[in-house]
Amino acid sequence: MKRTAIASLLLSAAIPFLLPAALAQSAEPATSILFENVRIFDGKSDALSASMNVLVRGNRIEKISRDPISADRANTRTIPGDGRTLMPGLIDMHWHAMLVRPTVATLLAGDLGYLNLMAGAEAADTLMRGFTTVRDLGGPSFGLKRAIDEGIVPGPRIYPSGAIITVTSGHGDFRQPFELPRALGNTQSRGEQTGAAMVADSPDEVRVRAREQLLQGATQIKLTAGGGVASPHSPLDASTFTEAELRAAVEAAENWGTYVTVHAYTPVSIQRAIAAGVKCIEHGHLMDEPTARLIAEKGIWLSTQAFPDELAEVFPVGSLERYKALEVFAGTDRTFTLAKKYKIKTAFGTDILFSARLAQRQGELLSKFVRWYTPVETLIMATGTNAQLLELSGKRNPYSGKLGVVEEGALADLLLVNGDPIANIKLIENPAKNFVVIMKDGKVFKNTL
Ligand SMILES: [Zn+2]
Repeated sequence: MKRTAIASLLLSAAIPFLLPAALAQSAEPATSILFENVRIFDGKSDALSASMNVLVRGNRIEKISRDPISADRANTRTIPGDGRTLMPGLIDMHWHAMLVRPTVATLLAGDLGYLNLMAGAEAADTLMRGFTTVRDLGGPSFGLKRAIDEGIVPGPRIYPSGAIITVTSGHGDFRQPFELPRALGNTQSRGEQTGAAMVADSPDEVRVRAREQLLQGATQIKLTAGGGVASPHSPLDASTFTEAELRAAVEAAENWGTYVTVHAYTPVSIQRAIAAGVKCIEHGHLMDEPTARLIAEKGIWLSTQAFPDELAEVFPVGSLERYKALEVFAGTDRTFTLAKKYKIKTAFGTDILFSARLAQRQGELLSKFVRWYTPVETLIMATGTNAQLLELSGKRNPYSGKLGVVEEGALADLLLVNGDPIANIKLIENPAKNFVVIMKDGKVFKNTL
């Protein structure tokens, strides 16, 4: 083949890849949808509204009115709310779309096509649990995101990070000793080839890896600043990246108009990340009081979760991983208490990994927050507040419009709930029964009325 022919082939292959996903999903559905007689939880207020009517046109909420809305009946589908609750779609700020279902072994040895199909099926289930948006904090989810945005498979909106960036021996480095030593230019490990995690051991390497994720459409960059539970080589107390390495990622992200978030449990790893300009801390379960004060003073986000105790059971009794899991879980209550005491900007995410069974309990992991927050505070966190953190992606935000709220002009990601979730937050634990309508981007994905 002549070089020009190859070049034009490459070009034609590259053009659709570069089309912003938002363009692909801006096509308006033929009909408008009118929700009649609904009480609204708007993602911000602490009480339901009186009975309202809500008109969705295209992918936006066009009008909210106490009075009947006169819409062009021929092109408008009416959904009778009968006093049910209309609320924003839920947002999970710590998700791994590609890593929810496979085991670690399947992930590292598995065929990529198989992993993608598994992730597609999980994405459909995620949406059917009422999660209309996820922030993906590690894993090769760019293709899945594109397929969802193009309507090829149903699923939530995805804010992808791409590969987790880690250091040699850090959280996310699953290599075996026989794969050492690593030399620049050598074949990458399987985890790196799949785009699940990238190892970087200097500011320059961090810059390359961060920019590679941005090239692929990352909406934020994720690094692991300290040790982790599931990783074979990283002690929990380890601080991994140096401040200079963290700063290299922050510079690359900020030059691209977005931000860095880090996995960090310990005071040292959290404080070092903040000094380097990181805007969000994931987990934080082993923080102390001065660190909580620092997070609050600097206006840093804390994206965290109450890991269920059963999660430790996936690790064998007596294993180091199980010991590490229990050490992290023991810090949960203290972390939430400090977050409340210092009024830290707190976001909700689940971080469900390697367990299709646990994924089915995604909503339950949210309702567990009522141990520390009121039901309405919990619901606001998973909708309006989480959406504020998404806005840190700035111009890298792939979905223009407001998420996490029910208000005129906002994107129409909506759940119609059988009952009042403020009075009974346990309703969200059974989405199959209680979410009677699930809408994303103005399109109805479920309607059992
Ligand atoms: Zn995670």
